[in-house]
Amino acid sequence: MPSLMSIDGVAVAGQHGFEVVNPSTGAPFAEAPACDEPTLNRAVEAASKAFGAWRRDESARRTALKACAAAIRNQAEALGRTLATEMGKPITKAIEEAQITAFLFDQAAEAQIPVEQFDEGRAQVTIVRRPLGVVAALPPWNFPLGLGAWKVAPALLTGNTVVLKPSPYAPLSSLQLGAIMREWLPPGVLNVISGGGELGEKLVTHPLVRGVGFTGSIATGQQVARSAATQLKRLTLELGGNDAAIVLDDVDPKQVASRIFWGAFANSGQICGAIKRLYVAESVMRPLLHELTRIAQAVRVGDALDPTTEFGPIGNRAQLDRILSMLDEAKRVGAHLVTGGERLNRPGFFVPPTLVTKVAEGIRLVDDEQFGPVLPIMSFRTVEEAIERANATAFGLNGSIWTRNIARGTELAGELECGTAWVNQHMVIALRAPFGGWKASGLGRENGPWGIQAYTEVQVIHASAD
Ligand code: NAD
Repeated sequence: MPSLMSIDGVAVAGQHGFEVVNPSTGAPFAEAPACDEPTLNRAVEAASKAFGAWRRDESARRTALKACAAAIRNQAEALGRTLATEMGKPITKAIEEAQITAFLFDQAAEAQIPVEQFDEGRAQVTIVRRPLGVVAALPPWNFPLGLGAWKVAPALLTGNTVVLKPSPYAPLSSLQLGAIMREWLPPGVLNVISGGGELGEKLVTHPLVRGVGFTGSIATGQQVARSAATQLKRLTLELGGNDAAIVLDDVDPKQVASRIFWGAFANSGQICGAIKRLYVAESVMRPLLHELTRIAQAVRVGDALDPTTEFGPIGNRAQLDRILSMLDEAKRVGAHLVTGGERLNRPGFFVPPTLVTKVAEGIRLVDDEQFGPVLPIMSFRTVEEAIERANATAFGLNGSIWTRNIARGTELAGELECGTAWVNQHMVIALRAPFGGWKASGLGRENGPWGIQAYTEVQVIHASAD
């Protein structure tokens, strides 16, 4: 069945299509509709038309979100299959992402929209949250369903209507989500269109769009901010990370190795908040590297649709090329590849878990966001030095401290310049806590009351008896 867009409550085909590649095979396996400008305008106008009625009935919105959650949960397996095929994450993880997406709509259906009230002289002052209007939701390819829901769920709860545009590398699961949800929502409330960066830019600059929720790279985020600036649109930017994990000399390497490994290599390292630089106290470098190597060599790399696969391919050709060029540079300056380091000789975009030592700041693998299955590991002499190196970057998404001394770990976590700092964990997200970055890693927060705030304007109503 061809994938179709959802506009104004109905399925819409594109005049043209573009190929979607399965990264496990390297071959195209489906076409997605290429949304043209008139169709984009139809989607935004449908959302604008639906806004008036949708914003007025909060209880109908909660009921509809609950129904969407149940329908998504019912289809989690099918959604997961599509996602695993187009993006390459292991099928078990892809189904889990679809289930989390259902949970996010359930959670939104029950979330409080804050209202505050107090008396001021003769007047009663009420502070309420009003929806923005039409919201553009732009998720990246690594978690299209989950990060799409981080935007769509709070935006719909608070009375906005939405146009969702997923990444052209992984559009099919979001188109499928649109088909599921349009059965349970009034026409125009959620529209899902597909296309590339140019379509994203036209959507962001469309005069009827009042709010933008974007997750992606820093460079695109800056472009989105420029596009949104002309009309001063409300904006949430969740951008790239270059998270440092700092391992102190009191850890038991056997105990922490698996958590550190998967903190770096879950989703084949393609997570904004994965460990991307590992700083290890000199005295534990050898035993920790030994444990990490053991895990890396035992991991089952394979086709995303194979239920025994733990480690899928890189999500697309462009990202594979980026990773290989970073590896080339590291090799040129004398890096030591402890494991992996080469593309596998098989179809698909496979690079196995790659541990790299004998590297330092000054090369892209350390200074930029690699967003792939390659981890630079560096030793440090003093904790102060490690914190300084962790913070010496324009990124500020997350970080972590690994130690048996929780009090010291918590104190040091507070020294990291980032939105979330963990102790003895990494990339464990509390869905009720705000998520977002400092410095170039973003603007605003998603999740919990902060996520709701992002899709609303504050209104103060002063009412006096006479
Ligand atoms: P990307 O920036 O290339 O694209 C993101 C989305 O923006 C896509 O849908 C794309 O089509 C669209 N787009 C491209 N140009 C646009 C423009 N000019 N205007 C509007 N939209 C445009 O990112 P990606 O490669 O899909 O994702 C990887 C990046 O996402 C990494 O940097 C990663 O760290 C980041 N990321 C951040 C978080 C977070 O929460 N901070 C989470 C996941 C991924």
